[in-house]
Amino acid sequence: MNAVPASHTIAEQPALSSALAKFLERKPRLLVNGEWVEAHGKGRIPVIDPATERRIAEIADADAQDVDRAVRAARAAFESGPWAGMLPDEREQLMWRLADLMERHAGELAELESLDNGKPIAMARLIDVPGAISHLRYMSGWASKLDGSTFNTSLRAAPGTKFHTYTVREPVGVVAQIIPWNFPLLMATLKLAPVLATGCTSVLKPAEQTSLSALRLGELIVEAGFPPGVVNILTGLGESTGAALVAHPDVDKIAFTGSTEVGKLINIAATATLKRVSLELGGKSPVIVLPDVDPRAVAAGAAQAVFFNSGQICVAGSRLFVQRRIFDQVVAGVSEVSRSIVMGPGLDEHTQMGPLVSQEQRDRVLSYLQSGRKQGATIVAGGDAPGHKGYYVNPTVIVDVKPDMKIVREEIFGPVLVAQRFDELEEVAAWANDTPYGLAASIWSNDLRAVQRLVPKIKAGTVWVNCHSMIDAGMPFGGYKQSGFGREQGRAGVEMYTELKAVCMAI
Ligand code: ADP
Ligand code: MG
Repeated sequence: MNAVPASHTIAEQPALSSALAKFLERKPRLLVNGEWVEAHGKGRIPVIDPATERRIAEIADADAQDVDRAVRAARAAFESGPWAGMLPDEREQLMWRLADLMERHAGELAELESLDNGKPIAMARLIDVPGAISHLRYMSGWASKLDGSTFNTSLRAAPGTKFHTYTVREPVGVVAQIIPWNFPLLMATLKLAPVLATGCTSVLKPAEQTSLSALRLGELIVEAGFPPGVVNILTGLGESTGAALVAHPDVDKIAFTGSTEVGKLINIAATATLKRVSLELGGKSPVIVLPDVDPRAVAAGAAQAVFFNSGQICVAGSRLFVQRRIFDQVVAGVSEVSRSIVMGPGLDEHTQMGPLVSQEQRDRVLSYLQSGRKQGATIVAGGDAPGHKGYYVNPTVIVDVKPDMKIVREEIFGPVLVAQRFDELEEVAAWANDTPYGLAASIWSNDLRAVQRLVPKIKAGTVWVNCHSMIDAGMPFGGYKQSGFGREQGRAGVEMYTELKAVCMAI
């Protein structure tokens, strides 16, 4: 089969709404101690619309002095003042107020997200904004529901002495939160939600490629009435702002979502003062298709699993394993879907797949395609860029791959699928696990026995069956192996923002 280029022409980015145009005129500022302040750092970072490659705004590159100021504000808010004395239901109400404000501005937030990241506005409206609001509301309930235990101990002391022992959960303290560019608003909100529920404070650093929606969220946080210093937002580069934040001795915990490479650096930096660390890192998630399924229906699911958000999602189903009997049909189906996807600028209502976030990311993905070709793989769909302004890459399906190829081993973070055949269940579990990552996997089958035998064999934090990328505030999310540690969301997620104190009282 030859590579077939996408046949669609790419539309031009529609005009911005006046609300958005006005927001873009905003000066580069940082949110510190409840106020929008000028950065001490003199560096400025251009904000680029990935669909047009045009500069649309600029943000500050916060330096170590800015970081110190923000951490001090977060410390002060944590230790004393209105936040430290607030009751759980008062924090819960503030979170609801913020969620309501986000809902009121949902259209504007979706537009901003789409412009800054490149994602289709329909997706931002359907997933990013409501998802962010849902995380906030879900976590707000935990403010009043965290609890401890009492214990029947066998402690011995002077005759007649009894003991009352129990545990309490206390907020961990000042949290540095560093997030990536693929779901900017959703990431910011889901990181902040457990901070607010538990009574911690945060210094949040959005990704330098996509900081605008976090800044807008900061405005809504101020409007909602959170006390100063509870949430501080610093824009800046990873190597300046990010590195200063993880090195700061007065940060108690770091919550990071991003590349495995940077996650490892952060874990090392955190060791100096033994900060608590939770890491949500990369993935190379397998999609396993057993022979009992309808190949056409599953092809649509497999295409969605890898192409959603232009493949820029840590759980992307980027390795497809199909049982030999239906391999050709499923691969043909995925390729057909890939050619039918309407690629275009985020703000166009018809767009189904937007550009990648940046030129760097586009070049990275194209170089993987080059490497796949060089190592002898066959591209059956896509495989190139459409040759239009904007950081577009055609959705790509690759076969004839070998386990040691770079495109099979490394996370590409773009719309690229590698497909492999298998014969036996035993074999596919081993192949699926043959990766340093362990974030997620999906199994497609209605054969209950086969599915239940496969699930325990898969080394991944989430296993989906007959679906993929289903993420919910109530479900714990995180990785095995080099996909990170700690869990976000659910009870496990909120508990990551607490210390467990045991109290033993002789009575
Ligand atoms: P990508 O390479 O795909 O942009 P990264 O893991 O580099 O992914 O970025 C995720 C987040 O981590 C971003 O907010 C980025 O600024 C930040 N970051 C990058 N390098 C560092 C670092 N050395 N220390 C702290 N944060 C960093
Ligand atoms: Mg990086």
